[in-house]
Amino acid sequence: MPNNNWLDEHWKKAHNPNYLGTFYFNDVLGAGANATITRLAQEQVFNPSSRREEQCNVAHFAEGILPLILNKTACKFLSALSGDNRPRAWVGAKIFIEVKKEKVKGKLETVLRLGDYRAGHISQAAPQPPAPPEPSRIHCEDCNNFLTPFDRDGKTYSPQQLAKSTQKLHGKDLCLDCLDRAEGRKEAGENNMEGFNDDTNS
Ligand SMILES: [Zn+2]
Repeated sequence: MPNNNWLDEHWKKAHNPNYLGTFYFNDVLGAGANATITRLAQEQVFNPSSRREEQCNVAHFAEGILPLILNKTACKFLSALSGDNRPRAWVGAKIFIEVKKEKVKGKLETVLRLGDYRAGHISQAAPQPPAPPEPSRIHCEDCNNFLTPFDRDGKTYSPQQLAKSTQKLHGKDLCLDCLDRAEGRKEAGENNMEGFNDDTNS
């Protein structure tokens, strides 16, 4: 699921795919997501900048999203939110994790920031079902135009159904006009379609 955004960013920002990072948003979560802390842990995390493992404070969430490495800014936010600077007190905290553009040491960077839980927020990317695959388009083997759906006797026929019939009749994929021509009907458009077999749904 993680995308290849890191290819377009400074190599120092190469993410660890096991933890929440800006890469995980947009594609997966939209611009932000609500999260409920279930557990805090200190974990050995590989830092691609230093190429070493570092001990980090990590928050795990009920929502099934990747765990978040807590930086100083995040820890200060959680201390203020819970009124307690001990991580133990942060369990159960409801927060909103957001992708923001911020100046870091004078440079505009994409960062994750914590904010107040947003009741009713639905992440933009998550609920979208995958788009149905577009049926592959069929070329007419005579004129090279695409076959198009057409109506006949109140029924709509797909290009696939047309091609199946013209394959049976003429051994090739034909558009409606070329089928008429092949059938000896001069007036293209007067599609009385004699010989068009309506057995294509079998
Ligand atoms: Zn054609």
